[in-house]
Amino acid sequence: MRSAPTILHLDMDAFFASVEQASKPSLRGKAVVVGGLGPRGVVATASYEARVFGVHSAMPMAQARRLAPNAAYLVPRFALYRSISDQVMGLLRSLSPLVEPLSLDEAFVDLEAGGTAWDERSARLAGAKLRADIRAATALTGSVGLAASKMLAKIASERAKPDGLVLIEPGTERALLGPLSVRTLPGVGPATGDHLRRAGIHTVEELAEAGEDELVRLLGKAHGHGLFAMALARDERPVVAERETKSVSVEDTYDVDIHDRVRVATEVRRLAERCVRRLRGAGLSGRTIVLKVRRYDFSTLTRSETLRGPTDDPAVVREAAARLLESVDTTGGVRLLGVGVSGLADYTQEDLFAQAAGVDEEVSVPEEPEVSSATASRTPPERRWPAGHDVRHTAHGHGWVQGSGLGRVTVRFETPGSAPGRVRTFRTDDPALEPADPLPLVSRGPGEEGDARAGGGAVAESR
Ligand SMILES: [Mg+2]
Repeated sequence: MRSAPTILHLDMDAFFASVEQASKPSLRGKAVVVGGLGPRGVVATASYEARVFGVHSAMPMAQARRLAPNAAYLVPRFALYRSISDQVMGLLRSLSPLVEPLSLDEAFVDLEAGGTAWDERSARLAGAKLRADIRAATALTGSVGLAASKMLAKIASERAKPDGLVLIEPGTERALLGPLSVRTLPGVGPATGDHLRRAGIHTVEELAEAGEDELVRLLGKAHGHGLFAMALARDERPVVAERETKSVSVEDTYDVDIHDRVRVATEVRRLAERCVRRLRGAGLSGRTIVLKVRRYDFSTLTRSETLRGPTDDPAVVREAAARLLESVDTTGGVRLLGVGVSGLADYTQEDLFAQAAGVDEEVSVPEEPEVSSATASRTPPERRWPAGHDVRHTAHGHGWVQGSGLGRVTVRFETPGSAPGRVRTFRTDDPALEPADPLPLVSRGPGEEGDARAGGGAVAESR
């Protein structure tokens, strides 16, 4: 392990909710919950003001609404989050060629490899400058952890939250890790955590005391070895710019096509379990479960389901694979089955796995021409105005949907640079109202104010 704390972990604070607060002045300092608003929706991110009421990621939306009835409930705007993420990742890449993104708002950076830092002082300076640069570019805050390994840099950023910087001095690692939960360690997902708890192992110190042999006995060779090293704060994993392993998958080809639906389901369950064993063996967890089915006529179908967060739980993968199988017609017989997990992470951050974020479908049938899916859009009127999304009114300008229903849509007219705005209500089919693109969170100076205002000739800066 290196001797200087030159591995940086950045984690943006309450990312989705903070973006919403930055773009909607009336929500700053208020409880904001971003997530699926449907009956089975879950919380993606809660602002710190909403967390005070006990609302957290992965919580069913109905429960969040009971805890914080007055919070603003918004539908995610992923395109906007992605564009801000690109800005942040760009700043990280200016520090080092070795940047390893873990999600839209989280990444490791090897400062030493970039020549940006070589000791405690230079690392601290680089971290502080990065936080200032992120704030200037995006109007958002991010927390920075610095340490001599990935594991500890990640723990440090967690402690720095929100809006802070924590550096773990080399030499103090074991004392710091000892009292922490085993779930803090990479590769300990909910399932492994439970397994260890049943064996009476709760903290990292207890894990180290259990000894390597006992951990190998409990968790298998690869996982046991790896975890024991982590418990001793030995983490040699390099920051990798590109993840070599993009997915972990297993598949079986059958000599004779399987026609029996029950047998197909059994095989899928078995493959799911095998896939998870391999996943855990590599100390990984993943978000997207993929089912592959090759049918009697060699047509191959892929179905995938993306969970809210990474999992290494065999039951979760098994159930997801079984759900995916339900949507596949296997009547003609099946010659190959596969189960895979992608969207890999070496951390299972929270118990996000129980809820599916959405189901993506991808079907590839050989020798079938591409068919454009130009189905007429018959979205019900209420659906056209998701809460939190941007709109533009010909007379009132730019705003966002505060709520809609019963043929009405309520819009608050404000922009990232304006004062908190006024609310007005319209009919959902009002021709003067149309969906709009998000405005930049940080105004890029005169002449670049984006938006239709540019067409209006001389327009005073709004601040
Ligand atoms: Mg974050």
